Amino acid sequence: MRWGSLARRSLEWSVFSLVVAVVVSGCDRSLSETDSWPNKPGPKVVVSFAPLYCFAVNVAGDDAAVKNVMTTTGPHDFNPTEQDARLLSQADIMFVIGLGLDEHIAKKMKDGSGNTKLRIVELAERIPKEKLCEGVCTHAHHKDDPDHKHDLDPHVWLSPEHAIYLVKAIRDELKAADPERAANYDRRAAEYIAKLEKLKADGLAMLAGKADNRLISFHDSLAYFADCFRLEIRGVLTPKPGQEPDEREMKKLIRICTDETKPTRVIAVEPQYSKSNSGEVLRKELELKGVNNPVLAEIDTLETVKPADLTPDWYEQRMRANLAELAEKLK
Ligand SMILES: [Zn+2]
Repeated sequence: MRWGSLARRSLEWSVFSLVVAVVVSGCDRSLSETDSWPNKPGPKVVVSFAPLYCFAVNVAGDDAAVKNVMTTTGPHDFNPTEQDARLLSQADIMFVIGLGLDEHIAKKMKDGSGNTKLRIVELAERIPKEKLCEGVCTHAHHKDDPDHKHDLDPHVWLSPEHAIYLVKAIRDELKAADPERAANYDRRAAEYIAKLEKLKADGLAMLAGKADNRLISFHDSLAYFADCFRLEIRGVLTPKPGQEPDEREMKKLIRICTDETKPTRVIAVEPQYSKSNSGEVLRKELELKGVNNPVLAEIDTLETVKPADLTPDWYEQRMRANLAELAEKLK
């Protein structure tokens, strides 16, 4: 399994379920500020992580309340708390990406919350199948077995084009749950989709005319982003988020980056994994091997957020920061 081992988590989960059972059955003290739901007329919506918060809150407006679950720990590493379960115990809809990223966590949280009526919506299911891909193949056995199967890459939110499908799915779900205010959801979704289209157009303009459009991705997260903005991901630094490359993988990356037909000098690093120095190790190796001006580019995959930073326009801001960083670093 590529996107985290469930087996490894089973013990943590049984502890979690126990905690939640106690909370849900025996607790009627007043909810703290972060648990409490603002008084809005429409459905109560929970999302798994930050980009989905921005998508949902822009469509929900003042009609439906939206709460985000994962903050400083993203979907690859998340362990829910009892506060998360309290939130779910009162929610009507939970939006997740799916594709193996966050739907298993969501289902366990739903079971733990005791809220059998909660509707979990896997938004990536609403993206046309031909627009989904398997990410960058780093499997060593690829040549021997070209038919081997990969899981689909869940990092769809990093392409504004794919994000539009997610926003439309959110709009349709809110309309179905709250038909009285359907026209409002339609209007706000259209306004937000226009912003996402502008984001894509601005990004393409910022990166237009770059002869050097190649980069090494930090974890395998940038396939849709690269497709949308016409960049080429030449390799992946960490086989799994947070797992450092071994010597064989590092040698392979050096070989890829020093390929004379496609020299690659920009290495993405992620603020979430700032302790990892593998990007800098590769950069120094490339410098020694004569690659011209190898550089690190800080790319936020938008999987984590500081709660205080999460505003409705956070997604656009962070995406624009990523695009500006690449516009500066790519030549
Ligand atoms: Zn990821």
